[in-house]
Amino acid sequence: MGKRVYIISDLEGVAGIVSRVQLGPEGSEYEIARSYLTHEVNAAIDGCIEAGASDITVLDGHGHPRGYNIDLAIADDRAEYVIGTHRSSTLPFLNESFDAVFLIGYHAMAGAERAVWSHTQSWESIVSYSINGEEFGEIGQMAIIAGTFEVPVVLVTGDQAAINEAKSVIPGIIGIVVKEGDSRFCARTVTPNRSQTLIKSGAVEATTLIDKISPVRIDFPCEIKMTVSDSDFADEMERSGMLRTGKLTLSKTGQSFRDIP
Ligand SMILES: [Zn+2]
Repeated sequence: MGKRVYIISDLEGVAGIVSRVQLGPEGSEYEIARSYLTHEVNAAIDGCIEAGASDITVLDGHGHPRGYNIDLAIADDRAEYVIGTHRSSTLPFLNESFDAVFLIGYHAMAGAERAVWSHTQSWESIVSYSINGEEFGEIGQMAIIAGTFEVPVVLVTGDQAAINEAKSVIPGIIGIVVKEGDSRFCARTVTPNRSQTLIKSGAVEATTLIDKISPVRIDFPCEIKMTVSDSDFADEMERSGMLRTGKLTLSKTGQSFRDIP
């Protein structure tokens, strides 16, 4: 039987994306940004099928809780798409039956330098996030959640900073750089067409290397710490159940993948 691949898409790390007007439905350039995203996801699907995958689930991961960005009218029919709000967990439908995870259109963690739209969950409010003393962004968080199902993340696409971060967390991962940040809002980017070519070949390679890349594993319970940028957000996190350890710092004990992020 062919491999089962779970693709998580984001938008900040797609080729040609640098501006807020591209990142949400209120923006004047959002519709074209959605098409760039969809074509990158299509390229990843095409590549993994060429390398022997036969069952592909795509999670539309950007801008939760809105819940959909991929344009299903032009999306590859050979995959199925998880969209919508009120999700039961961060990665719905992911389980032990999958063989690999791809991260498409990803960005580096909050505070990363020369990193397009670097952030961790919130664009503005989270300054740093750590598990057992080690700092993680969304790439690491996704790898840890997938790791609890013994599934490795084998492909990441995004800007140079995102790929550097992924390689430091996931040894052997295939990283496809589609742009290089000059600042948080300026990049040197390849064209969407070029990014699709690069991503397809990365997906082929990553699919053939699935057995060579280990899942990221952590022990539970774990200690999760967060530093936030303002007291309003700290209050909100405290109300959600985190322990206030300082004006702008909080912590909690993670009992399972459901506590990440
Ligand atoms: Zn996003």
